[in-house]
Amino acid sequence: MLRIRNIGICGTDFHAFRGEQPYFKYPRILGHELAAEVAEDAGDFKAGQTVVPVPYIHCGKCLTCRAGKTNCCPSIRTMGVHVDGGMRELMPVPEKNLMHAEGLSHEQIATVECLAIGAHAVGRANLQAGQWAAIAGTGPIGIGILHFARIAGARTIAVDINPDRLAYCREVIGVDACVDARENTTGQLNEITDGELPDKVFDATGVPAAMEAAFEYVGHGGRLILVSIVKGAISFADPLFHAREMTVMSSRNATRSDFSQVMDALRDGKIDISSFVTHRCQFDEITGSFAHWSDPSAGVIKGMVSL
Ligand SMILES: [Zn+2]
Ligand SMILES: [Zn+2]
Repeated sequence: MLRIRNIGICGTDFHAFRGEQPYFKYPRILGHELAAEVAEDAGDFKAGQTVVPVPYIHCGKCLTCRAGKTNCCPSIRTMGVHVDGGMRELMPVPEKNLMHAEGLSHEQIATVECLAIGAHAVGRANLQAGQWAAIAGTGPIGIGILHFARIAGARTIAVDINPDRLAYCREVIGVDACVDARENTTGQLNEITDGELPDKVFDATGVPAAMEAAFEYVGHGGRLILVSIVKGAISFADPLFHAREMTVMSSRNATRSDFSQVMDALRDGKIDISSFVTHRCQFDEITGSFAHWSDPSAGVIKGMVSL
């Protein structure tokens, strides 16, 4: 049994709160970005220790799980999405879904799941030091990708239509270049990369037209990693795809090793979340804060609830 201490809020929660998540079955307790304390001893986990719950419940038996790809187990169920999550004081979580998180603040721990999505995507890309990596969409997921691309030693390019987000990427993350996607994105990327285009392009926009446009941004022999998911089909021009011998891949959730990588980066000070968490509230203020935080003009990157 866990005592929940912090809950990070993301787009999934806002959609579910407004009843706009078609896959949700109600009633459902939200909350999948969690920091917790162990409430009673369970195996390796002693009362009072701080932990991060890995919210993806995988079967552990199928071919995919046996291959270590627990993040995309066919029967995966995510806490706070398919089963009840952590917006409550006490929450039962299977021991196999817990990881020790000593040495981190509760607020840092509650950002681990969100940042792990970025760590996983960068792992999928096999990003090498010195390569150009362009990240389209600089919300919380895109910011996580940018951090891990930078940590991998890549030269990073933030692509977004929001000047405030680009300013954040320049000033806080220290990206090598910014591209305003409202004007000739491919031309700007060509200019930045000396006409070679980025080796790795990540999409975290959640916008079908932006995902389709991203095929144009990938250099010859490069990879496109689609991190955000949309309903329905996206399409691309086959000659472009073939001429570049492009690899297109998805990235879904994260694994325990991604969670470890994030916690190491936070402990080592390679990622500073002080400006990533932009809005805070107490547990009893949550419904009022949700209405305000989901308004784009509020400028929320990551909202954080504490208990
Ligand atoms: Zn989330
Ligand atoms: Zn499985």
